[in-house]
Order: sequence, then C-alpha cells, then structure tokens
Amino acid sequence: MSKPEKIVAIKGMNDILPQDAPLWELFENTTETILKSYGYQKIVTPIVEETRLFSRAIGAVTDIVEKEMYSFEDSMNGDQLTLRPEGTASVVRAVLEHNLVYDGPRRLWYKGPMFRHERPQRGRYRQFFQFGAEAVGFSGPDIDAELIMMCRRLWDDLGIQNVRLELNSIGNAEERARHRTDLIAYLEKHEDILDAEAKRRLHSNPLRILDTKNPAMQEMVNGAPRLLDYLGEESLAHFNGVKNILDRAAVQYTVNPRLVRGLDYYNRTVFEWVTDELGSQGTICAGGRYDPLIETFGGKATPAVGFAMGMERIIELMKAMGEPAQPNQCDVYMVHQGEEARMQAFILAERIRDAGLDVVLHCATPAGAGSFKSQMKKADGSGAAFAVIIGEDEIANNVAAIKSMRGAAGEQQQTSVPFEEVVDHLVDQIISGGGHDHDHDHDHGHVHYHP
Ligand code: ATP
Ligand code: MG
Repeated sequence: MSKPEKIVAIKGMNDILPQDAPLWELFENTTETILKSYGYQKIVTPIVEETRLFSRAIGAVTDIVEKEMYSFEDSMNGDQLTLRPEGTASVVRAVLEHNLVYDGPRRLWYKGPMFRHERPQRGRYRQFFQFGAEAVGFSGPDIDAELIMMCRRLWDDLGIQNVRLELNSIGNAEERARHRTDLIAYLEKHEDILDAEAKRRLHSNPLRILDTKNPAMQEMVNGAPRLLDYLGEESLAHFNGVKNILDRAAVQYTVNPRLVRGLDYYNRTVFEWVTDELGSQGTICAGGRYDPLIETFGGKATPAVGFAMGMERIIELMKAMGEPAQPNQCDVYMVHQGEEARMQAFILAERIRDAGLDVVLHCATPAGAGSFKSQMKKADGSGAAFAVIIGEDEIANNVAAIKSMRGAAGEQQQTSVPFEEVVDHLVDQIISGGGHDHDHDHDHGHVHYHP
C-alpha cells in the first residue's frame, strides 16, 4: 500500500498549539475580567448566518462583502449562508431577535473565530479570532470614551506598550454626503494620480480612498477635503465630548482626519489602536459608533458603539515581549508498576481530583507501560509538586509513596502514606501547606514576562 498523502490545514487558517495556549488564555482571562469590571455581559452567536445579514449590515460596496466572504449554498436546502466575517452584525441581530434592549441599554462582549477570504500574510489570516464589545442603546460620548478606556486598561494590564490611539469623527450621513460631493470633485481633478483600486472606488466608496497605503497617492490625499471640516454642531459636540473625557482621564490620542472604517455602518466616533511593532498589519483594535445600523435591520432607532480586537496580532505583540511562565501541567503525577497498582492509581487519581487537585495518571503508549525510571522522568517534566508512586511493595503494605518533586534531587523527600490518607496528605501539602505556591486561579493582575 502506498503511503497516504498528508492533509494539512487550509491556507490562512492556523492551529493554536499547546505551547501558545497559555498566552491565549492569559489574554482571554485578562480581557474577560476587565470587561466584567465595566459591566459587560457575554453573548455567543452562531458562526454561520444568512448571507444577507452581512451584506445588509456591512454594506454591499465594502471590501468584506465584495470579495472576502466565505459564502455558500447549503446543499441540503438551498439556503444562502456565510461564515461570519465579523461580530457586530450577529450581535445586533441577536439583540433585536431577543429584544435585549427592551428594558434599557446593554453592554455586551463576544469572542470567537471570524472568516475572511483575504491574501494570507503576517497578521492577516483567513480564520482569525476577534474579541469585541458592543454597547447598545447609549447615545452620549461617555460610552465611546469608556470603550476606549477599557482598551487602555487592557494594554496596561497585559504590559503592552507602544500602542497609540488614533481618533476621528466621520459625522452623520448628511455630513458625509456633502463632503463626498466635494471629495469626488477633488479626486476627479487628480484622476491621473489615482491607482486602479481608487478609480474603482471613486464613485462607490470614495472615503476609502483616503485610507490608501499607496505612497504615490499620499500627497494628493493629504490635500483632499477633510470630513472633519464638514461636521455639524451636534457631531462636533459629540466628538469634543469624547475628547474631553479622554483628556481628563489622561488618555493620549492623535486625531487622524483620514481615519475611516472599512464597514459602512459607522458614524461619528471612529478609533483604532495601532502599533509599529507588527509591520504593516499594525491595527490591533478598531471600533466606532454605528447608530444607524439597528434601524436598517427593522428595529426602532437605537444608538450603539463597539470595537473589535484582532487576537492574533495582540498575541504576537505579547510574544515579542517574552513568554509568560508556562504553568505546570498538574499538581500530582501518578506512577505505578503492575496490574493491581494500576487499578489503585486509577481510583486514587479520581479521589485526588475530587479534592480539587490536577492529576496526570501515567498511561501506556505503544512503547509499553513504561519503566519506573521513565515514568519518574515524565513526572519530573510535568512540573508536578508531588509524584504518587504505587508498586508491588506499596500494594502489599496498603500504602502509596509520595515523593516531593521540588528542590534539588538530593533534597527530594519521599514518605509512605496509607492509601486512605493520601488525599488528605496531598491537600495538606499542596493547598494549605508551607510554601503555598499553588494557585488554581489565574492571575489577573499585571503580567510579568520572562524574555
Ligand atoms: P484592515 O484594514 O487591516 O483590513 P479591517 O478594517 O478589515 O482591518 P476590522 O473589520 O475593523 O478590520 O476588524 C477589527 C480588527 O480585527 C482589526 O483591527 C484587526 O486587528 C483584526 N483583523 C481584521 N482582519 C483580520 C485578518 N484577516 N486577520 C487577522 N486579524 C484581522
Ligand atoms: Mg480588512
């Protein structure tokens, strides 16, 4: 038989391996703790939705809907479906479907994988994870500032430096329409400088041209009419309101008049957290207000604002600062020799877990059950505080040997403990015992990295 061909993951879709899992967990735990401390509640929506949910919410002439969506027909019933490219549309659908704002506004958060058919490169994947927050039913600048300050707190708690906040207001639809007329006229005057992408966008989504990364267009774009100059009184007051709170809270930002968002539903406040440490994919969090969205879904007019963070980019930033200490695999490693010892170890392991400790039981591999020596090596590598050893002698005497794994090899102590006292003995040593370096809870405080 010829060797079967290997199957690998889909291009642009990544595995998160055990060695990186602690970093992801640290990020998720820290974020969830902070969100909770601001009163945000978790919401989970399906990964697959009707295609028209996204085309209506995100807008037909956006990058996402034009060319990035994983859309398909359900061959069982002909439904038009899409793997979600972002979280806001689904959250808003769920808010309306379950009438979540009937008794007042809501602060919500979500996390999970998103799918966009983009060209894979550093920091840009086809499956990527987002952590997002949505505040639905709030209209004032205070909630915009709160979202931004939550991010600030998160970077601080994670020890992330070198991120800056860019802020802008894109006004309301009328203000954008007046600006758009002037912008198109200006761009038409400079049509010779526009690249193909910009020419295509000229009449569909000219605002996006301001966002261009093409160096040949920078100077022209710098001289374009600024949307900020078209803001009316209310939009300006809102923008100033956000800036005032940030100033009072000593949150630094720069106003970037060319900052727009790729999604159609935004209005007024838009912001991005950007770093220079990640190459050209430097935006780690992006957000803004989307007051008009809920009405386009048939709901009654409800203001809303939110953000989404790109988790891979933040993890990469955290990696650049060094690895946080890898947690131990378990508290106790069970070593055993012989059939009856294996049975005892199995039962004892369950009882130790009942008491709240993490236990790894040595199990057979194709190489066999493993010699005593090789099992002790595994116990050592697991980071366990204690090995519980059961061999023929122990079975004969109804005891287990408990060996302390901490400290230098010569100092490691071993004691014999009757079976029925093993659980109490371990609990005593590990949870209430001397050094107390046991910590079942995750540390939500400031994180220390070991480069
Ligand atoms: P970009 O201009 O980089 O394409 P975007 O405007 O499409 O970003 P959003 O839809 O606002 O991005 O998504 C919010 C955040 O999610 C981004 O700031 C980024 O951190 C992350 N993100 C977006 N697309 C990807 C992707 N393909 N791979 C990894 N992270 C992504
Ligand atoms: Mg994009």
